[in-house]
Amino acid sequence: AAGLAWFRRDLRAHDQAALHHALRHCRQVHAAFLFDTDILEALPRRDRRVEFIRESLVQLDVALRLLGGSPRHGLIVVHGRAREEIPRLARQLGVQAVFANHDDEPAAIVRDAKVRGALADIGIALHDGKDHVVFGRREVLTQAGTPYSVFTPYKKAWLAKVDDFYLRAYPIERHASALAPRPEALACDAPSLQDLGFEVTNLKDLAIPVGTAGGKALFDDFLQRIDHYGSARDFPAVKGPSYLSVHLRFGTVSIRDLARQAQALASRGNEGAATWLGELVWRDFYMQVLANFPHVADEHGQGHSFRREYDRVHFDHSAKGKALFKAWCEGRTGYPLVDAAMLQLNTTGYMHNRLRMVTASFLCKTLGVDWRWGERYFAVQLNDYDLAANNGGWQWAASCGTDAQPYFRIFNPVTQSRRFDPEGKFITRYLPQLAALPPPVLHAPWTARPVDLEAAGFVLGRDYPMPVVDQDEGRARALERYAVVKTAK
Ligand code: FAD
Repeated sequence: AAGLAWFRRDLRAHDQAALHHALRHCRQVHAAFLFDTDILEALPRRDRRVEFIRESLVQLDVALRLLGGSPRHGLIVVHGRAREEIPRLARQLGVQAVFANHDDEPAAIVRDAKVRGALADIGIALHDGKDHVVFGRREVLTQAGTPYSVFTPYKKAWLAKVDDFYLRAYPIERHASALAPRPEALACDAPSLQDLGFEVTNLKDLAIPVGTAGGKALFDDFLQRIDHYGSARDFPAVKGPSYLSVHLRFGTVSIRDLARQAQALASRGNEGAATWLGELVWRDFYMQVLANFPHVADEHGQGHSFRREYDRVHFDHSAKGKALFKAWCEGRTGYPLVDAAMLQLNTTGYMHNRLRMVTASFLCKTLGVDWRWGERYFAVQLNDYDLAANNGGWQWAASCGTDAQPYFRIFNPVTQSRRFDPEGKFITRYLPQLAALPPPVLHAPWTARPVDLEAAGFVLGRDYPMPVVDQDEGRARALERYAVVKTAK
């Protein structure tokens, strides 16, 4: 039989479940990636993720050629609508089955159902299975057989269940002889960004390493620092985290590989590795929340609160709310840590985890703007945008999700700034004009004494905005807003 391995968010030729299953079960296996116009049409014309994917495909193509043993064994790349192009390609290649990995995002579920139906019409099967999580869907359940909605017991159950079986790599090389050469008609290079209707971004200038080579380089670098992860990860000016999120998103690293190495170190007493493994468990946790509680997001990205009663909270949808939202997006709130974080996001597509928490809380609590607006903004900007993690993070910040922070705990951006960027090193990277102010007031420029501002030649409102709201007033309004939930109980 012949098969087609359909690559999506799993852009590697090692330890890849769908490719492995195809190679094991078919004698002739083709490999393809589809640039899906349904996804691409909604994106801004300059999108780092499209460029990241495109560059990663070049490496995937080379890896497949090496695996197959000849230049003819490369990746087939097509461009169009999945429900049309995948069946067309499958028919053209004469395969009996298509193999793909699960994707539990609502739009992907709809897409896969359509593709499955169109393939069935022409007698071709679509087989899909788990790849991009260690445990997905209903694999880790409570004693009562229900999905977890609280992280700590979920993590305990996850750690109790995980073993070599779940973490070992799929031995793709063993079955490589089943890889088939591309038919001549399909043997062309991946389309350029221009072919796809996109423009080049600053991905290269940012030196974000792409593809499996990039993922490996980042992980190797991180392993040198993993011991200190627990103490370094909260300080945005420090190289503390792994920066692997974009690679986890597009599968240019294998989650099994990362979890196996982290677990091996953790079992030898490496606390940093144990803490980091916990972050990978968070990733699985939010993926299973999305799979088991689908009301948190629909295929258009519109979601309900995990805890439905929080849908009663009224956010500020007025012109004033819109103006505050715009100031937040553009990094003009007058709160340096928030603004520097938003500038980091806008210019690099990455934001440090601590700052995602601070900026999200600031938007939906202090500014009273709907968390769904912020969620959507992150969805467009983040290189590592992942619906499950993003939705989970936003619902946490808005106190309406699983494991959310209590609604009356509201981050103070100035306190956070003093604590996690004490010398303002991160802030001044994105707001260099604030370097003129001494560190104690750099976190809250409006508190500076006029004589200090004058000495620094700094004019508030000209060199940096005045705060768009007063934190204490914003906090008081948030408590009023959320009171509707308390009274509903
Ligand atoms: P590391 O600290 O090195 O962590 C390793 C990996 O663990 C990450 O790459 C990620 O895959 C996973 N991870 C870490 N923290 C979390 C978490 N809280 N939830 C789920 N997975 C986690 N992460 C995304 O991957 N995509 C998103 O769209 C996203 N949106 C977020 C929105 C908000 C409001 C918040 C508070 C968090 C969000 N996160 C998201 C989680 C986290 O901020 C990022 O995963 C992390 O900052 C990525 O950097 P890193 O790879 O260097 O992380």
